[in-house]
Amino acid sequence: MAELVDKISELSGQNLDACYQCGKCSGGCPSVAQMDMLPNQVIRLLQIGLPELALQCNTIWICASCYMCTVRCPRGIDLSKIMEALRQVNLRENLDYMKIKEIKEEDIFILPQIALVANFRKQTA
Ligand code: SF4
Ligand code: SF4
Repeated sequence: MAELVDKISELSGQNLDACYQCGKCSGGCPSVAQMDMLPNQVIRLLQIGLPELALQCNTIWICASCYMCTVRCPRGIDLSKIMEALRQVNLRENLDYMKIKEIKEEDIFILPQIALVANFRKQTA
């Protein structure tokens, strides 16, 4: 698992050990109500060697890459890049998070097309 954590650190370019769990990232995250794990908890899982749990949470897909956490972090950690690295690791395993065939037809007509395209890019391998 250490290799996987190193890979996430390499892909994101972030020093995971720099995080001291102050929670300022989670406190400012606008998407946190929809997440099953707080952003700082995702980093903590990586710090304690449980990357597989970080890869399974919905937080990494809910993250809107808005950079609020990045701006608030007193340690200069770009958490949005860590979220992106976790998504990349999943997608490299050809694990699609969004199943195109499972989108309801009525939703396709309601959802903005740009949102659908952006999600296809972000959530499919
Ligand atoms: S704001 Fe930075 S140091 Fe604080 S918990 Fe979040 S990532 Fe860690
Ligand atoms: S980049 Fe993601 S984790 Fe960070 S504040 Fe925005 S939505 Fe939350």
